[in-house]
Amino acid sequence: MGRLLAVSAVAAALAATVSLPEARADAFSNCVAGKWGAAKRIGVTRANFDAATRNLRPDPTTLKLVNNQSEFVKPIWEYLDSAVSEKRVSTGRQKYREYQSVLQSVGARYKVDPEVILAIWGMETSYGSFMGEHNAVRAAATLACASKRRQDFWTQQMVAAIKIAQDGHVPLDKMESSWGAAMGHTQFIPTSWQAYAADFDGDGKRDIWRSIPDAFASTANYLAKHGWNYQETWGYEVVVPRNFDHALADGRKKRTLAEWSRYGINRVGGQNWPRPSDQAYLYYPAGANGPAFLMLHNFDVIKRYNNADAYALGVGHLADRIVGGGDFSQNWPRDERPLSRVQVQEMQSLLTRRGFSTGGVDGQVGPMTREAIRAYQKSSGTVPDGFASTKLLNELQRR
Ligand code: CA
Repeated sequence: MGRLLAVSAVAAALAATVSLPEARADAFSNCVAGKWGAAKRIGVTRANFDAATRNLRPDPTTLKLVNNQSEFVKPIWEYLDSAVSEKRVSTGRQKYREYQSVLQSVGARYKVDPEVILAIWGMETSYGSFMGEHNAVRAAATLACASKRRQDFWTQQMVAAIKIAQDGHVPLDKMESSWGAAMGHTQFIPTSWQAYAADFDGDGKRDIWRSIPDAFASTANYLAKHGWNYQETWGYEVVVPRNFDHALADGRKKRTLAEWSRYGINRVGGQNWPRPSDQAYLYYPAGANGPAFLMLHNFDVIKRYNNADAYALGVGHLADRIVGGGDFSQNWPRDERPLSRVQVQEMQSLLTRRGFSTGGVDGQVGPMTREAIRAYQKSSGTVPDGFASTKLLNELQRR
């Protein structure tokens, strides 16, 4: 839904499958016209469908961005440098003062912490300063008619967008979106808008483009519906003891904070856990040489907004910084060079060939790849932190 998803997961899903040369005007018009049945099924009128699709042309930027997937993945510390920049923190504090009353009301109504709503707004659109230069109907139609994968998904987004305009929530030509049809302050795709957008200012419109209260309430509603635990934060930066069994940092197995304490794990500042019975998993975003975190349930709720660890950590950290928290205490391994997608694929092939299945060779480091790395590291007597590093790739190439 957010921009990170738009440039990573969506692009990855579509990258190799869009055929621009074939997307000629006639074929595109015919394809768009063929979406009438899907539109009718959700209650779009013929007149509104025609008005929304007449003279519709493919969005060239959407096509370009879908085709130009970046080969290099930013390391998480570089991502966080820009996602949680000093400017974004100070603007967030200023916005908190500016919108304090509506944030408090939204937070109390939905039982979602205001600073997290603010942080998502900051991450998604830099607090509404950039909602995308595209139109949701056009962007979705382009993806529905010029890509060969997920056409049904994009068709649903396209007709849902027309329906939103038909219902009077926002005029068609004001339906600003990202190139991937993520709309308004909160960057909801049209079907997420249908499921989660909320009217907080009481004008009957769920206007995530022009109403800040609606945008805040929509984000809060999304988090609430996905199980947000009010006033229980997202996780803690922690220090692990020397000689710690790093295999426990599998980013999966939950234990209570009290149990983690028995393994010698403490908060970086040494404070007590507010709720020692909370369940958390141990996670090293950049391997054993970087910061360590104990992640609570809310971390996974943030990932429902955008399924990327870097994004969720960015939201959690930005929220903490906005309400006065400091930077992380431990340093990132900044001398580590990130692996390109091709290098990740090579690493996946090498691991699979050695009997450590990565569940496919897709160039993305997901849970199965991390698990395979961990198993390989254990077998070779190195620190099993599951981190895909150049050092690991070099070692696999040598053996
Ligand atoms: Ca409204």
